[in-house]
Amino acid sequence: MTNLVAVVVDEAHCVKTWGNKFRRAFSKLGELRSIIPPNVNILALTATATKKTFHIITDRLSMINPEVISCSPFRYNISYTVAPKIDLVNFLTGVCSDLRLKRVTYPKTIIFSRLYSDCASMFTIMQKQMKNEMYEPIGAPKMRRILLADVYTRVNTEAKKEQILQFFKTPNSTLRCLIATTAFGMGVDCPNIRQVYHWGSPSEPEEYVQETGRAGQDREDAIATIFAEPVGKHTSKEMKIYLSNSTVYRRRLLFQDFLNFCEKDITVSGIKCCDICHAHTENEL
Ligand SMILES: [Zn+2]
Repeated sequence: MTNLVAVVVDEAHCVKTWGNKFRRAFSKLGELRSIIPPNVNILALTATATKKTFHIITDRLSMINPEVISCSPFRYNISYTVAPKIDLVNFLTGVCSDLRLKRVTYPKTIIFSRLYSDCASMFTIMQKQMKNEMYEPIGAPKMRRILLADVYTRVNTEAKKEQILQFFKTPNSTLRCLIATTAFGMGVDCPNIRQVYHWGSPSEPEEYVQETGRAGQDREDAIATIFAEPVGKHTSKEMKIYLSNSTVYRRRLLFQDFLNFCEKDITVSGIKCCDICHAHTENEL
C-alpha cells in the first residue's frame, strides 16, 4: 500500500452504468476511499460530463469537495445535423454512391447503430449494392483487408476487432467506412474521422456528444448527422427535443447541461456549427 500513488478512473462517465448487472465490482470503487491512505488521491477523467454526471461520479467514487479541472465542452470543428426522415436503403444508397465515386478518398466515416442486427443488415445492404466494388482494387481477390466498408461489433473475435481497428486507423487504408454498434464505438480512436452518422437516436445528448466525439480528433472539420428514425423507448425527453428542434442552435441543446457551458461559445463557428445556423445564414443572404 505504501507504493500506491493514486487511483485513476478513466472514462469516468461510465460509472453511471456500473451496478448490479454490469461491472458489479466497479460500482464498489468508491469503497477504496476508506481503505487507501488519505494522502493517496483519486483522479477521475472524462471527456463528457454534464453537471448531473459530475455529481454521480463524485458521489460513486466518494470524492469529497474534489478539485475540478475542466475546459469548454465544445468541439468547434464538428458540425451537427439532424437529417430529414429517410429509409435505411435510401440512406445507404447515398453512402454507396459516394463510396463508389471516391473509393479510397472517401472521407473516413463511422455509421453507428445501437443494435447489432441493424449493423449486420446495413453491411449486407452495402455488400449487395456494391458487389465487387466493395473491394479495392475492384476485381481483386475478396479478402477482408481490402474492403472499403466493414462492420465492427461484439460478434467479431478480439483478433478480428483489433485487425479492423488497425486498418481503420491507418490514414490511407482502403477501409473508409466502419459500421459499429455504439457499445463498441468507444474503442474506435482514429484521428481523421470526417463523418459520424447515427442510424437511430442516441438516448441522451451527453451520449451523443460522447459518440460524435470520435470525429475530427485531428481538429480538422467533421460532420455529425443523425438519421433519427427509429426513436426508441431509450430516447430521453432532452434527445427528443434535440431531434424535433428547428429553431435553437444545436450546440445549445447538446451542451447546455455540461460543466463550463458558455453561452457566447455557441455561435463562434458560424455556419459550420449546425444545420439550424446554416439555414439562418442562408435566409439572411
Ligand atoms: Zn449552429
